Amino acid sequence: MFDILLKIENLRKKCDKNTKKYSQAASFYEILMEISKLFNGKIDIICNFIGEDKKILYIASYIKSNLQKQILIDDSYKATELLKIKKYPITIDSRLGDVSLKNKNGYYFALPVMTNGENLSGSLVIYSKEKLEIKDSIKIIAFLFGSFFNQDNIEKIISKKNIPPPTPAKKQLKNNISLYRKEVKSNSSPIRSQSSFHIAGVSLGGTIAIGNAHIHGKPSKIERYINNDSTTQEQERLDKAKLKAEQNIKNTIDKYKSYLSQDAVECLNTHLLLLKDKIWQEQLKQAIDTGLTAEAATEYTKQQNYMNFQQIEDEYIKARFADIKDISDKLHIYLNKQKNSNKSDDDIVIIADDLGISGLMEYDISKVKAIILETGNISSHIAIVASGAEIPILGQCDGASKNIKTGSKVIVDCDQAVAFICPKAHTIRLYERKLQQIKAKIAVGKKISSNIVTKDKIKINLQMNAGILSEVPLIHNFGADGIGLFRTELTFMGWTKYPTVKKQTELYKKILNMAKDKPVIFRTLDIGGDKPLPYFDAPEEENPALGWRAIRIGIDRPAVLRTQLTAMLKAASQANSTLYVMIPLVSEVAEIMHVRKILHMTTQRLEKAGNRLPPDIKLGVMLEVPSLIWQLEEVCRNVDFISVGTNDLMQYMFAADRGSLQMHSRYDIVSPPMLRALKYIVNICNKQKTPVSICGEAASDPISAMVFIALGYKTLSMPATKINNIKNMCNSLNSKILNSYLAKVMQSDEHSLRKKLRAFAKDRDIII
Ligand code: PEP
Ligand code: MG
Repeated sequence: MFDILLKIENLRKKCDKNTKKYSQAASFYEILMEISKLFNGKIDIICNFIGEDKKILYIASYIKSNLQKQILIDDSYKATELLKIKKYPITIDSRLGDVSLKNKNGYYFALPVMTNGENLSGSLVIYSKEKLEIKDSIKIIAFLFGSFFNQDNIEKIISKKNIPPPTPAKKQLKNNISLYRKEVKSNSSPIRSQSSFHIAGVSLGGTIAIGNAHIHGKPSKIERYINNDSTTQEQERLDKAKLKAEQNIKNTIDKYKSYLSQDAVECLNTHLLLLKDKIWQEQLKQAIDTGLTAEAATEYTKQQNYMNFQQIEDEYIKARFADIKDISDKLHIYLNKQKNSNKSDDDIVIIADDLGISGLMEYDISKVKAIILETGNISSHIAIVASGAEIPILGQCDGASKNIKTGSKVIVDCDQAVAFICPKAHTIRLYERKLQQIKAKIAVGKKISSNIVTKDKIKINLQMNAGILSEVPLIHNFGADGIGLFRTELTFMGWTKYPTVKKQTELYKKILNMAKDKPVIFRTLDIGGDKPLPYFDAPEEENPALGWRAIRIGIDRPAVLRTQLTAMLKAASQANSTLYVMIPLVSEVAEIMHVRKILHMTTQRLEKAGNRLPPDIKLGVMLEVPSLIWQLEEVCRNVDFISVGTNDLMQYMFAADRGSLQMHSRYDIVSPPMLRALKYIVNICNKQKTPVSICGEAASDPISAMVFIALGYKTLSMPATKINNIKNMCNSLNSKILNSYLAKVMQSDEHSLRKKLRAFAKDRDIII
């Protein structure tokens, strides 16, 4: 048995090294014969590779039976198709009425060949006339086959001329190969060179970072599957990795307890329990005893558990596999680090197709240096949270997760919107120097007093936007005047079930206490649209941005709103702070009156139950739906403050989806129609003496921000990391002069005033 494992391992290594002379396909055939020997030659075997949904590529077979070969191949395809649905080993007794199988006289045993724990890449279909006992050793062989089934190797295998297919399958094989080649060609990246290469993207926030790539959701490649040395040594490596994982989890809980949600702590505790789980440890030991390395044993048991969990009907229990997957992947990292001690996971650059807030929460945020995404845009929530946490983030980097390998050195330059992978030494030196300069600048910036006044003596308030607890301390680091927008839904998105009043109260209280005497504006849940909550059932809508979202949900589901208001009231009373509540996506005054009523009822209930109320309660609205502009005077009379959400206001004013790549930057906020609307809003608010601010992302763009100030906005709220830039702009701006200039250019018929404004700033030494 060990011999055959070694044979497969050698073949795999040769495939990896791309040895031209060696015929991998012939070796496949050889291995199939070896398997046959394990069954005393009583079986037929076919190995299928599964490509696209409908495409199964036959690779090699060992066929000794008198049966018609084509029938056997056809039947093996059917067994593989069934396997694709079931995803666990299946036995098909063709005599028991499965009429779809042509061969009516035997048993098929179809073994999944998996990669990455849960991707079905191929199958070993074993046919026998007699009922077979499938031993664990065969499962391990199928697992090792999985190690071949990454796209590179398949490409090499099928490109060999001497695959020994039985004649009837030749034509189909040829077709499949050409189809497969087309697919590989269309997927290959044009930018990749031999070692160092770069990927261009779109900057979503931040400056520069240097770190080591970590492909989100994909464990690192296993270099060695079979262990030639002592199994004790391999077991010791595994034990060390478990210890390291355990220490890391405990440290994370200790250090970040106050920042972690209860769910995150529960999840980490489950990982601790799993590390001591007797059944799993026994599975791992057996796999190592068979001859697998610690990494391969971890991967093998993960796959076996995946298949076992697939057979469980209960969806909740089925979902528990995610914990085994997570902790197995963590063990991989530590095992990998034993070999590559220079590849630290302290400076992580996360590479992902897409990354949600909860995905980011899987990491120790203090160790994340940058994020590279294949998707994302400036107003996506991951970009907002990353900017808030001072993490540079690059979006729309095509092919990033396919082409970058875990552990590779990466430089992320958001100023140039490019990432350098495996950069040359001189590039690293250059960026290390740049990084030092940036750090020095930030240190100076942080010392600037938070008392910001323009050259014409207008006092400006710069507040920060936040959405998760760990961002809140930045209020002090960057000298923000308060939190002008706390997006409560971002924390909700990281939870797995709807939080109780108690849980919410704890969160809001922590935020208020961390902010000390600085005001915090809590926005009620802005869910729906592009921010679904996993545990909140919402109907499918054709146009979610125009659908059932934000306060519309709050009004239709008053219990949700009441729970949140109750928690906010309790938290503010316990922290002895003024409660600022802000309603998102208000479209008419009637909605404000409705929420006022619910707020009033909630306070009355709390008082009746003997609770203290906060010292003061202020109710405000987000102005992000254009209809509200035409009821603005009434709005002012019914609220304590207004904040303009330019992200959504732009989307609805220009009828341009804020998440669409095509619409991205098609319209500019510094354009005549938008600036006239913003001027109208600030004028009415000033007349009505209603405090007004801007909290959309445009507030952090120096050109837009100088215009807002010149129009009369005195409070801007933005990601904390952007405050220093805007401070510098404010200190160098004479808002009166710009105001007169705007009066002229705002009447123009130009698409954007950006160019003119940039020139204006340059001429007057305004720091933008
Ligand atoms: C906005 O729309 O401008 C805003 C600040 O809210 P969000 O980006 O969360 O929709
Ligand atoms: Mg909005």
